[in-house]
Amino acid sequence: MESKVPLLLDGEWTQSQSHTFFPVINPANQQVLAQAPDATEQEVELAVQSAQKAFESWRNTPAPVRARLMMNYQALLKQHQHEIAELLSQETGKTFEDAKGDVWRGIEVVEQACNVPSLMMGETLENVANGVDTYSYVQPLGVCFGITPFNFPAMIPLWMFPISVACGNAFILKPSEQDPLTPNRLAELFLAAGFPRGILQVLHGGQRPVNQLLEHPQIKTVSFVGSVPVAEHIYRKGCHELKRVQAFAGAKNHMVIMPDANFNHTINNIVGAACGAAGQRCMAISVAVFVGDAQPWLAALKEAMSTIRPGVWNDSGAAYGPIISMKAKQRVLKLIEQGKAEGAECLLDGSSYQHPEFPQGNWVGPTLFAGVTTDMALYKEEIFGPVLCCMQAKNLEEAIDLINNSPFGNGTSIFTASGAAARHFQQKIQVGQVGINIPIPVPLPFFSFTGWKRSFFGDLHAYGKQAVRFYTETKTITARWLESDIDQVAPNMTIHLK
Ligand code: NAD
Repeated sequence: MESKVPLLLDGEWTQSQSHTFFPVINPANQQVLAQAPDATEQEVELAVQSAQKAFESWRNTPAPVRARLMMNYQALLKQHQHEIAELLSQETGKTFEDAKGDVWRGIEVVEQACNVPSLMMGETLENVANGVDTYSYVQPLGVCFGITPFNFPAMIPLWMFPISVACGNAFILKPSEQDPLTPNRLAELFLAAGFPRGILQVLHGGQRPVNQLLEHPQIKTVSFVGSVPVAEHIYRKGCHELKRVQAFAGAKNHMVIMPDANFNHTINNIVGAACGAAGQRCMAISVAVFVGDAQPWLAALKEAMSTIRPGVWNDSGAAYGPIISMKAKQRVLKLIEQGKAEGAECLLDGSSYQHPEFPQGNWVGPTLFAGVTTDMALYKEEIFGPVLCCMQAKNLEEAIDLINNSPFGNGTSIFTASGAAARHFQQKIQVGQVGINIPIPVPLPFFSFTGWKRSFFGDLHAYGKQAVRFYTETKTITARWLESDIDQVAPNMTIHLK
């Protein structure tokens, strides 16, 4: 019998009373690692009440004290990063290198949270009118809520709760039911760092607990990362409940290859960006747009993609791991078949790839299509598999138009030796993250990260610097000080503070 994944409720690891469970499956061999509960109504309510109570005193804990606890947390995460990455590899199938990157990117956000006293500083202006000064304070909001996807079970939870908690809030995390073990390990280390009881609660489950929390009057903010349909639902429902919502959604990222791009550098980068993490990244390159003649590029790409293969987490020859679930693999295979039926030319077909030692794994080999057009499902849908679609454009302007007409706007990149072409591209392109001779511009915690168009819903593009703005309110005080009052001050006056 597999173990049940506990909830972190009111500072205690608690077995859920739920009757509904989701199996947590190692996608490389179908081993059931654990069962994740669908948290019950009472458990959700307890989490909110405990978080609210914890918030009342945490908000008054001095910012430098909060920052110091965050430093303890950073040190513990660093100490345990390889052990966390190994656990992460088991439940996601990621290669160990990929898993370590997932954890490390999260640690970088915790480092940013350690800087919270500076990040929360308000503003002042003396003498806005005669004898009047204005100053503002940045204050926490209360109980914040985050819902995270399967594909980065360390980095994405760490995008959310460390910044929110450092700002003085309490946080309820609802990780993906597909890989809840890594978020639980992050929470264990959070407790070990010395944070007070109730400041972080971890609820597992699917849409039921999410919807209950979206409707809960004590939830102040909702942070979501996941697919477009769910992001739309979260954003609509959260806004209807008058919450502050940020919803990072799906993507379809294009890379433009100009004829003057460095050949080998470009080919190597396309392969990694399309197939790395089995294409299960919101920043993966899914469409290559060749400006001018595509033929020499296609031949080299086919050759380069033929040399890589998926494998298990500790196989140093594996370029990437399996697809997260059998269902997700079937969806990728269906899109590959649809592509062929719709007339795209399949230059490399990975749909029947079998791993010799782990035939049960959700493997998909590298897959390359040429002649893809905008009306094909392959182009319109986010594939989330190691599948690259190639297209051609007559010139840079045509490539830019193609990308700007896409409903997604998460990431894009251009490979070129021309500074003028790159500058024109960066100015005209309607996408949030732009790489120049870099395939996937990984967001860093000290920069804002946002998708455009259907890749992001919300008006506070919260990550990096702006994350503090999402998790706080600003209070502006305007005070008049009358010089004539100076003489009136009673020297022995006492003020009673509550
Ligand atoms: P998903 O939308 O299926 O699930 C995300 C979260 O929402 C999970 O915690 C899940 O339990 C919950 N959920 C699912 N259906 C729900 C519903 N009907 N109501 C309420 N909650 C629900 O996404 P996924 O498959 O886990 O992750 C992959 C997706 O995430 C891809 O589309 C990818 O592009 C996107 N993503 C985006 C970013 C970004 O920064 N924009 C980053 C990573 C992943």
